[in-house]
Amino acid sequence: MNDALQSLIAQRKAQTDTVILAHTYQPPEIIALADITGDSFALAKAAAKLPQKRVIMCGVRFMAESVKILAPEKEVILPAPDAGCGMARMITPEDILAWKQEHPDACVCAYINTTAAVKAVCDVCVTSSSALKIVSKLDAEEILFLPDRNLGGWIAALLPDKKITLWNGYCPVHDNLTEEQVLAAKAEHPDALLAVHPECREEVVKHADMAGSTAEIIDFALKADKPVIIGTERGVADTLTKQYPDKQFYYLCPETLTCPDMKYITPALLLAAVNGEQGEKIILDEELRLAAKKSIDRMLELG
Ligand code: SF4
Repeated sequence: MNDALQSLIAQRKAQTDTVILAHTYQPPEIIALADITGDSFALAKAAAKLPQKRVIMCGVRFMAESVKILAPEKEVILPAPDAGCGMARMITPEDILAWKQEHPDACVCAYINTTAAVKAVCDVCVTSSSALKIVSKLDAEEILFLPDRNLGGWIAALLPDKKITLWNGYCPVHDNLTEEQVLAAKAEHPDALLAVHPECREEVVKHADMAGSTAEIIDFALKADKPVIIGTERGVADTLTKQYPDKQFYYLCPETLTCPDMKYITPALLLAAVNGEQGEKIILDEELRLAAKKSIDRMLELG
């Protein structure tokens, strides 16, 4: 990356009281410019405690909304307004209200990868790392889990005593990975362990040595005493390979595991966002924000 651009971003950040957050699926050149990197909810929690008044969220829309839900006093900027999430697009608040009418006594549990408007009509949120613990603590007779059928199915298999009904949504990136691709990668690297995200299909997850959130995959890969095949969005393997050249990581179908929404931001676009020339300021209706926060607060109580 261009050093002049890097120092210009640092200078403008300081002048505008701005902090840059980047999700782990962002390209390495954006990760290198970020003050904090991590999973979406970890970033939102961190942002709420930071002193800066302005937050640039390098990720997708629901992630920027999560920052705004937890830190309403801050100006939150999404540098690429078109960066949405294929999974989050698969359910609307109207869908949930209709679903609830069919299951009036159920507890509605939303994966954090949903819009603020969806969170606002649910009872509790979960992240991929907290989902199992939180769902296990819900005492409702029935749980409606949305939108990810793969994460929900993984939890349902681990909690056979719970009645969990799944929304038929999925991450178009992780769901695309096939068992054949996984078996081919394992055959190519027989000495390696396999770590996958539970947004992958059951036929994929069953071959893994571990399944977990991106932060858990990174932790597993760094502690492993063998090479690790990284079965999540390619940004994780890109950054691990760059930051830990002495360790051995293998990509698992990088063409399949590329989220286009996560690749819109370039260093030049990020500079324009820091300068206030690019990006969208996230605005949430206060009533909706408080309703969405209630689902997140419930997750924090149980998690
Ligand atoms: S990888 Fe999947 S869940 Fe994550 S932002 Fe992209 S489409 Fe959404």
